[in-house]
Amino acid sequence: MSYVTKMVCSRCGKVYDPREGHLMCDKRDLGRLDIYYDYEKVKESLTKASLASRTHDTWRWKELMPAFERHAVRLGEGGTPLIKATRLAEKYGLSNLYIKDETRNPTGSFKDRSMAVSVAKAVELGVKVDTTASSGNAAAALAAYSAKAGIKTVAFVLSTASVSKVAQLKLYGASVIKVKGIEKGEDPSVKMMLAANERWGWYTSPSFGPFNPYQVEGPKAISFELAEQFNWQPYDWMLVPTGSSCLLAGLWKGVRDLRETGLTDYYPGLVPVQPAGNSPLIRAIKAGLSFDQIEPEKSPRTIASGLSDPYPWDGDAALEGVKKTGGTGESATDDEIAQAVRDLAKYEGIFAEPSGAAALGALKKLIDNRVIDRGDRVVVLVTGSGFKDLNFAQSLYTPPPEIEPDIVQLEAALKEEGINLHG
Ligand SMILES: *Cc1c(COP(=O)(O)O)cnc(C)c1O
Ligand SMILES: [Zn+2]
Repeated sequence: MSYVTKMVCSRCGKVYDPREGHLMCDKRDLGRLDIYYDYEKVKESLTKASLASRTHDTWRWKELMPAFERHAVRLGEGGTPLIKATRLAEKYGLSNLYIKDETRNPTGSFKDRSMAVSVAKAVELGVKVDTTASSGNAAAALAAYSAKAGIKTVAFVLSTASVSKVAQLKLYGASVIKVKGIEKGEDPSVKMMLAANERWGWYTSPSFGPFNPYQVEGPKAISFELAEQFNWQPYDWMLVPTGSSCLLAGLWKGVRDLRETGLTDYYPGLVPVQPAGNSPLIRAIKAGLSFDQIEPEKSPRTIASGLSDPYPWDGDAALEGVKKTGGTGESATDDEIAQAVRDLAKYEGIFAEPSGAAALGALKKLIDNRVIDRGDRVVVLVTGSGFKDLNFAQSLYTPPPEIEPDIVQLEAALKEEGINLHG
């Protein structure tokens, strides 16, 4: 039974029948085909009591997903832990800091949530080849779910994609094409993905709403899980690493679904965080600009490769979400992001890539600027695993000492390491 009533282009308002499987607006106006649900009908079967007997993946929330559970491709995405970060909280002087640990998803990033939905839709539509434009994580997720579904993936990635991400993609069986030249605020991998769609009809599945409206619904489950993990009680903030803004758009749709279905009666303040070297959305939030006034970043520069989309494709929904939830936006410098990677590992035992840790990089500023109060309940999304970018991790430490198996040499080495042998 489908709970979807219609799809509506976010640009021109044209209404589409959800049964027709549209990916983009016919007018090619870069509108996102927003998906609408019959909330009255959803309410009847999605209840707190009904959750008790359900799986902890995407399909726990099947009434609020735009694909059918019978087409599900299951790798165990979602159901990620909400970890109370007591040591980090102490460092920042907060009393209620939580990490939603999305590094635990099957391919190591939250993008699995998006692609679980997109590939279920592809199965329904009988797709043979899917394609994506990605800095790596969305492509890896698409390739893994497609592998399990027996669908061929062709991934266009930027020349800057990390070795680990390309390796992962190749082993999932994807054809990987690196595309040169990210300048003039245009993403060349997106250009190639669209060209392939026009020429060969391949199913486009990047993690941007305007080219695939289904995947944006996947990350809604992060909002759903948070509500449940907080026992349906309010929390104050959700800090979100942001590139194209599709994740933020999904989280916003999620908190709105929860209220529309009466499962919650609050909104957490949504706070996108972009790297200082690529922050068109944050500049727009701070300057009070509208979506149409956003200029793409001319040449994005950041260690957070997963946040280097020069243009926030889903910025319209992100701006709306920030405004309606009383949120804000902040940027984090590369130094702050690197420090966040260190802190997550050292204080909380969580190994993140720079893109995954970026939201934490802005926390201090938000506290210093009195946006966040010390008693607030703060959730930081950590979205990608440290295993995604080992070259970066390696740049953060000095190589370990190597000794002969000899106690005297060991003692000298331990002294070098600053370990107190008599404490
Ligand atoms: C893609 C990605 C993001 C940002 O998501 P957007 O939808 O592009 O804003 C954040 N963290 C990681 C690890 C990602 O791969
Ligand atoms: Zn349109």
